[in-house]
Amino acid sequence: MQSFNYPNPDTFTRSRSGELFEEAKLYFPGGVHSPVRAFKSVEGPPVFFQKAEGCHLYDVDNQKFVDFCCSWGPLILGHCPPAVVRRVQETVAKGMSFGAPTPHDNLIGKLILDHHRYIEMIRFVSSGTEAVMSALRLARGVTGKNKVIKFEGCYHGHVDSLLVKAGSGLVTFGISTSAGIPESFANETIVVPLADPEALEAALRRHAGDTACVIVEPVPANNGLLLQDRSFLEFLRRKCTEYGVLLIFDEVISGFRVGFEGAAGYYGIQPDIITFGKIIGGGMPVGAYAASRAIMENVAPVGPVYQAGTLSANPVAMAAGYATLCELLHPGFYDQLEQKRRPSPTTCRRFANSGTTT
Ligand SMILES: *Cc1c(COP(=O)(O)O)cnc(C)c1O
Repeated sequence: MQSFNYPNPDTFTRSRSGELFEEAKLYFPGGVHSPVRAFKSVEGPPVFFQKAEGCHLYDVDNQKFVDFCCSWGPLILGHCPPAVVRRVQETVAKGMSFGAPTPHDNLIGKLILDHHRYIEMIRFVSSGTEAVMSALRLARGVTGKNKVIKFEGCYHGHVDSLLVKAGSGLVTFGISTSAGIPESFANETIVVPLADPEALEAALRRHAGDTACVIVEPVPANNGLLLQDRSFLEFLRRKCTEYGVLLIFDEVISGFRVGFEGAAGYYGIQPDIITFGKIIGGGMPVGAYAASRAIMENVAPVGPVYQAGTLSANPVAMAAGYATLCELLHPGFYDQLEQKRRPSPTTCRRFANSGTTT
């Protein structure tokens, strides 16, 4: 039986992690498959993990950690919740992908739509980025317009036209923040500051004729937490309607987290399209976009907006998502989650004294 200890700053080691990282750098750019994993803003090599359970992560140097990151959002139940693992195991044994519909599609689709008052139809994809990319295409297809308004500090995945930051001035055309994005793409994106009603109205007044949608993280959580006033989000909803522009809530991180109905339900605001990711897949690669029936019926094969995926609604991923969402629907789940997020003073003292390095 292997034993794992909480490291303290003196005993913390990354010797095996360091060896693995040196090897990984031979195979993968920067040794990783997503930039934050390289620990660039943290000293030393990234920690390589071998397993996890509940709130604990176990690294390859046999150290144990409390996980405050939870895979950047998906693991709302912590690691390896038994009900999810069981369902995944049962499903995987019957086939991992069919490239055809399965009953799982209906099960999770019905579960979500029955308990979410802000959407009528949904389409599953394989990541948050893919969900956002598809939602933008849908908004453009429905409105016949091209430009997208986004907010400074909101992250929407690595979609070309959204990897754009604000320049100077109240309203500005974007400058791409990644190499490899044509200026012509960046020019279709208008960036405005968050929580600035005048800047938003100015952008809409000037560009509404060419603008398909405004996209926002209703609970911006990718740049610290830039919590918005309800009044700003309500203003945003009113103005989008007034100027004939669709409103997309990017709920890839807030969806199923601030409540089963996400930020739409929390604030009581009806967006035109909602994107999902992270929790919806219960730790497997799943994203989704959803809207009213009228909007969703523009998607192929019913409508002219093409979108497809070999592994979309993959049965194993659907099983993980379904089992996770079922847990969230247990009465009192979100109240208990809220309590866990407010550690008692004793818990804080215990962590401060434990020498835990996260
Ligand atoms: C994580 C995130 C994305 C991107 O999702 P991926 O699954 O990483 O592609 C998009 N939008 C928001 C708000 C996110 O938090």
